[in-house]
Order: sequence, then structure tokens, then C-alpha cells
Amino acid sequence: MTDTTPRTATFTTRSPATGERIAEHPVDGPEEVARALTRARTAQTGWAALPASRRRDHLLRWKKALATGLDTVARTIAEETGKPAGDAALEVVLTLEHLAWAARNAERVLRRRKVGTGLFTVHQRASLVHRPLGVIGVIGPWNYPLYTPMGSIGYALAAGNGVVFKPSELTPATGLLLSGLFDAAVPEYAGLLTTVTGPASTGDALARSGVDKLAFTGSPGTARKVMAVCAGTLTPFLAECGGKDAVIVTADADLDAAADAIVWGALSNAGQTCAGVERVYAVRAIHAALCERVVERAEKLRPGAGTDAAYGPMTLPGQVAIVEGQVTGAVSAGARALLGGPGSVRAPYVAPVVLTEVPEDAAAMTEETFGPVVAINAVADVDEAVERANASRYALGAAVFCRGGRAGAAIAARLRAGAVSVNSVLGFAAVPALPFGGSRDSGFGRIHGAEGLRAFTSVQSMTVQRFAPPIALTSFDVPAATRERAIRMARALHRRR
Ligand code: NAD
Repeated sequence: MTDTTPRTATFTTRSPATGERIAEHPVDGPEEVARALTRARTAQTGWAALPASRRRDHLLRWKKALATGLDTVARTIAEETGKPAGDAALEVVLTLEHLAWAARNAERVLRRRKVGTGLFTVHQRASLVHRPLGVIGVIGPWNYPLYTPMGSIGYALAAGNGVVFKPSELTPATGLLLSGLFDAAVPEYAGLLTTVTGPASTGDALARSGVDKLAFTGSPGTARKVMAVCAGTLTPFLAECGGKDAVIVTADADLDAAADAIVWGALSNAGQTCAGVERVYAVRAIHAALCERVVERAEKLRPGAGTDAAYGPMTLPGQVAIVEGQVTGAVSAGARALLGGPGSVRAPYVAPVVLTEVPEDAAAMTEETFGPVVAINAVADVDEAVERANASRYALGAAVFCRGGRAGAAIAARLRAGAVSVNSVLGFAAVPALPFGGSRDSGFGRIHGAEGLRAFTSVQSMTVQRFAPPIALTSFDVPAATRERAIRMARALHRRR
């Protein structure tokens, strides 16, 4: 937030690769959050009153500014998260695609829609419209510090809302850059998107600030805490949390394509992807061949800070011990390490780890690992694969590799996951028209697509009486005979079928 008020508390961001100081940012508290909310509310009044086509044009100007500043934005993301520059640039590209879709489709998705009437309401014209909620609080994570929160921010703005954004304390500069670019591209509505910076306490202040909905992305543990705060004021809450995504590989699958996708889905961004590949269930006939292909690809990949690195360091220093603990625990419970193992950890880097025969109750199979580790277990058949994939307290994404899209879609339909890709991984995340979100510990509600626009609106239903009702029932003057005739008619009608 551009604010000249002197503050005492600040926090430091550091390079995940070197630990060197990047910048100092203010710890925004309840007062700064309240100011941000007022600023966003003021701008939102005019924004909501604009015709949807004008909002679209403003948002497309912002998109253009993001595209023009792609290198700067990608550099900031790479600096704060440690991810390779190319990955950061790809994150910006994906974000642009989503922003374009939200801006261009909001009018069509949210405009007034007529609905049919009933037996006693033929004299009414009925319609509904989706109205903006007001100002949305968005709390974001650090792993995709632009793409992930923009799944809420871009869609909320396109639906006519203002936003107060609290990025992760690891990636505040990315958040500030995003709102700064908005202010520069759309100066008429400066403040409509305002970023506040700080740790958990700032997020807590935002949840208590009186925003009209809170869109949270992060871990399920934090989601529970924030939701409890929102419950105090009945503030609507949307939760995008972690995953333990499974991939099913059938006997007739293209194993080279499956291995290639599994390695990328498990290791890119150092495995720090909510819908990354963490578990693979391969039917026994091709299990060994798949493992061989995965190891062959994964052993060529190195983490690091240089341009030859496949992925970067663990962004959150504390995550290294969690990953190490899960790998050590799995191996001591009987898992076989096909590549790497407990020794793969050289903080802040973790080299690729491929495990097999991992007991299904090991933490590596039940908890989100959020590291470059993949477990490939053999199963008797597709039924067992589906059962195991579904036996998780997470339900975010999944993938199926098999011959033929139709056969894959039939397996996908049996998976309890918010999104499934057949013969690719994470395919759904790149299609802006597809809603994204999970159930169970993966959260609830949807971002992206038409559902993602509607998530930031409330529905107003309306009837307009066109002529006097043929059978008037909503009056104390209705003769008893008229009421009885209406009841007879309804009974006759509804008894038929
Ligand atoms: P986190 O839960 O530690 O923090 C998320 C955000 O919540 C941060 O901005 C943090 O400052 C804030 N926060 C922490 N405590 C708070 C409190 N008490 N009140 C209000 N705000 C609070 O998560 P993280 O480590 O930043 O992100 C990693 C997690 O996010 C993983 O579990 C990952 O799977 C998940 N994630 C999910 C999606 C998705 O769309 N489903 C996308 C990306 C990441």
C-alpha cells in the first residue's frame, strides 16, 4: 500500500537461495488494513456502477501493463521464491490468460438472465442478476505468488468488486508490483486493488476488517484458523488449500508420455505446487517399466540457482525438514528409494526423490509433501488404483494415463477430485474457463471460470408483475372458493407424475 504514515514494525524478505536480504516491508496492522479497505470501498462504488464493457476495457489495460512488464514481474517472482526465471515468466503468462478470460467473459456470465415462471406466477416476469459483493479480502501463498491469488483477484475485479490483497510474507514485492501496475494502468480507479503486507497478523486483521468475502489460498491448518475468524462476522469464506494428487497409469498407457508428465508434475517448482503430482498408482504389469522411465528422466535434473537448474531451492526454509522427515519415515517403514533418499536434502535444495513400495499409511502418502518427491506404488488393477487415489483426506487434482481419451474420462469420473487431466498433468489449471478447487482438506468453493466469477457475487432475484394474477392468492381478499379451486388444480396437476 502506498502510504506515508510512519510505522515502527517491518519485516525482511530474503533470497531462498542465498539467504541474502532482498527488502524491508511494513507490517500492516488493523489500522492500515482498515485504511486499505476504505480506499478499495471508495473506488469500488464507481467501479461497480460502470457498464461491464468499461470494466473489461480497464482490466485489459491492466493486462497489457502486466504483459509489458512481464520481465520485471517475473524477475521479482524469481527473486522472492527462488524459482528459475523461465518458470516465473510462465507463471506470468498463465496469469495473463486468466485475466483476459475473466475480463472478457464477466459480462456474459453475470448479466441479467430470465427464468421461467410457474402455475400461479404466469403473470410475473422473473429474472436474476449477479451483483458484486463489495470488497474481497484475498490472502495468498508464496508458491505461485502471482498466478494463485490472481485466480481470486482478477475474477473478483471483473465481477465488479474491489480487493484488499495480503500476499505471503515471503512474496510481498510481487503483490505490491501487481497493485502498483493496476494503479498505473487504471488511475481512475487507483486503490480498487490495494496490497497490504505482513505476516499472519496482517492476514488476521484482514479477516476481521469487515471485507465482504475472504478468499484464502494456503494450507488447511491456516484455513481453519481464518475460517473461524470469519465465522464471527458471518463473512463468506472460500478456501483453496493443499493437495496430495494422484496419477493413475493403466497397462495400455503411453509410458514415455506418462513418465515425462509425472516427472514434470512432481519436480517442477521443487514440488511446491498445490496440485503437483505426489502419488502414482501404476498397474503391476507396467509398474517396473514406468519406474525405470521416471528415474531415467528425473536423475538428469538438478536443483540450483544457475540457468542449467531444473528447479530452485525450497522457498520456505522450514519445509526442508518436513520433506526430509517424510522421506526418512517412508524408507524406515519399508519404502524403496529408486532415486535419491534422505541424503538428497542439502538445504535449501532437495534433489529429486523417487520412492516405491511406500506403505499407504506413511506420511509420504497421507500428508502434503510439497517437495520434489514422488511415490510410485504398484496396484493390481484400475479399481484398486481408484480406491487408493480416493483414500486421501485431500481431494484437489488428479490425472489418468491410458490409451484413449474416452477410457481415461471413464476412470476420471470415478475420482473424487476437483479436477482431473487425462493423458497430461495439470492440464485443467491452464484452461481459464475451467473452475478450480477441491473438497475435504483441499478446501471448498471454486476459482476460475464462470463459477469463479459467480463466487464473488451475490444473486439478486426479481419478479416484475406484468398483469393482474388470474388466480390471486397473495391477498386477504381472496374468496375461499378461489383458494379451494387453486388447491384442486395444483393437486390434480402434481398427482399426474
Ligand atoms: P500458509 O497457510 O502458511 O499461509 C497462507 C497465507 O495465510 C499467508 O499469506 C500467511 O501469511 C497467511 N496466514 C497465516 N496465518 C494466518 C492467520 N492466522 N490469519 C490470517 N492469515 C494467515 O500457506 P503457504 O505456506 O503460504 O502456502 C502453501 C500452501 O498453500 C500449501 O498447502 C499449498 O498446497 C497451498 N496452495 C493451494 C493452492 C490452491 O489453489 N488450492 C494454490 C497454491 C498453494
